[in-house]
Amino acid sequence: KESHAWLNSYPAEVAPSYPYSETGLHEFLKQAAEEYPEKTAIHFKGKDLTYQELFDYSLRFANALKTLGVEKGDRVAVMLANTPQSVICYYGALFAGGVVVQMNPLFVEREIEQQLIDSDAKVLVCLDMVFPRVQKIRQNTSLEHVLVTGIKDFLPFPKNKIYPLIQKKNMGIKVEVTYDSETHNWKRIVENASKKFEEVAIDSKKDLALIQYTGGTTGAPKGVMLTHYNLVVNAEQCIRWMYKTERGGERILAALPFFHVYGMTTAMNLGILNIAELVIVPKFDPKEVLKTIEKKKITMFPGAPTMYIGLTNHPDIEKHDLSSIKACLSGAAPLPREVQLSFEEKTGGKLVEGYGLTETSPVASANPIWEMNKNGSIGLPWPDTEMAALDQETGEIAGINEVGELAVRGPQVMQGYWKNEEETNAVFSGDWFKTGDMGYQDEDGFFYIVDRKKDMIIAGGFNIYPREVEEVLYEHEAILEAAVVGVPHPYRGETVKAFVVLKEGKEASSEDLETFCRSKLAAYKIPRIFEQREELPKTFVGKVLRRALVEEEMEKNEAD
Ligand code: AMP
Repeated sequence: KESHAWLNSYPAEVAPSYPYSETGLHEFLKQAAEEYPEKTAIHFKGKDLTYQELFDYSLRFANALKTLGVEKGDRVAVMLANTPQSVICYYGALFAGGVVVQMNPLFVEREIEQQLIDSDAKVLVCLDMVFPRVQKIRQNTSLEHVLVTGIKDFLPFPKNKIYPLIQKKNMGIKVEVTYDSETHNWKRIVENASKKFEEVAIDSKKDLALIQYTGGTTGAPKGVMLTHYNLVVNAEQCIRWMYKTERGGERILAALPFFHVYGMTTAMNLGILNIAELVIVPKFDPKEVLKTIEKKKITMFPGAPTMYIGLTNHPDIEKHDLSSIKACLSGAAPLPREVQLSFEEKTGGKLVEGYGLTETSPVASANPIWEMNKNGSIGLPWPDTEMAALDQETGEIAGINEVGELAVRGPQVMQGYWKNEEETNAVFSGDWFKTGDMGYQDEDGFFYIVDRKKDMIIAGGFNIYPREVEEVLYEHEAILEAAVVGVPHPYRGETVKAFVVLKEGKEASSEDLETFCRSKLAAYKIPRIFEQREELPKTFVGKVLRRALVEEEMEKNEAD
């Protein structure tokens, strides 16, 4: 494969092609429990759950689902924060032959309703604090059963002290749940179920493991259909890429939410495949995370750029020994160079940037970890994966260093969007999946993102990619975070506006920032408007929500 030319000189451990397991994803857990039953699978708030326990609980949950009438192919919705339960429910649903539909526990009623209706979910597992929202829309959905997991009954840790604290903070909502034949106490139903389980046969290349909703460029979110094989492959590709890690010997910091495909694959599934200890931190608080890395001797930490920004800029970072860190993968959004270098310098470990989408399970490319890392690049396509920049006009593969729409072809690419042929057809060109990201490939085969197709700013006829401007702003010593958007302009059509968050104790005027940009960017790319903020709106994986800023600007404009 031409795009793998550079891989010819790559160590034998990372070959361009591998065989992958053609099993159900949950076989990872079964194998782990057989090989290392007593090893800690999950560390959560000071308590440990072994692989044997995790396996047993998952089987019990699978049996409970069967008792409730869940059959192969039925959708099981899970709306939980990272907890032992979230792992048990995910793997248990897969053991039962179910298709998992992950939902963000912060969803409002409209969002919950939309995804339950679209996926036609039969069962939902949710936190009790979310239950009132579910209850309000339940009659509009096809839900037959709701399983509620109480804040205090986080199995297997009945004396957990942290949750009452969260409950207090739960916006003052006191949740009353009436259990009936359709509403069940999760803990009770799992404890009462048998762990003797009859396996459900899985055809890994055909059977769906997941319908994962992703924000469409337009309209309602679309359900990405991923098979067991898609997810198995992506976790196995990940292990190949991280070939120096040790089976049974790693400790992974699980700060990314498991309900997002990024955390699901690179923390949860990878962890279980690698028989690692998953150290779950329910909320990303840099101070706590620094302590946890040191105390638990974390070796791997997949994350989003904002997490590494938070850590490298934290005043406590020098106080902690972070030398246990071996390899970290940053994805979901561009990783500023400064942050990567600073993180590597402060830990002595590796931090490499990767790239992917929900539609690619999610990882499609990454920088080699121990060999040739190109700052600012999203790396090389993963084993057995091809990537190309497609010329916007001809649809042909663009030349070296020429920008086009990035497309991916490989065993981790989705089957299509659930019940949405139109959107599916729109993103496939043959077996190339078109990502909606603009980028190019260099002479070594490394790929670069210039930006999201839809975020491109057109000012005075020039194309401006916000990311390029943001990269420059991040180089300024006073800037902690930056987001660049296009705002309407009477002559230029659009003009460039930068939202910036300054580091604590630092100052910079708009003039300073403009002068700084002037030395590094062509005139038409320089932001004409700067706005300083305390923080930027972000998604739950820490991706800055440029769209939200654009919408605010539009609203402001209309009000004017
Ligand atoms: P999601 O499906 O929510 O994971 O979002 C996928 C999108 O995240 C991609 O289409 C990209 O726009 C963006 N993305 C992922 N990784 C990177 C990266 N390393 N650099 C820039 N954007 C990224």
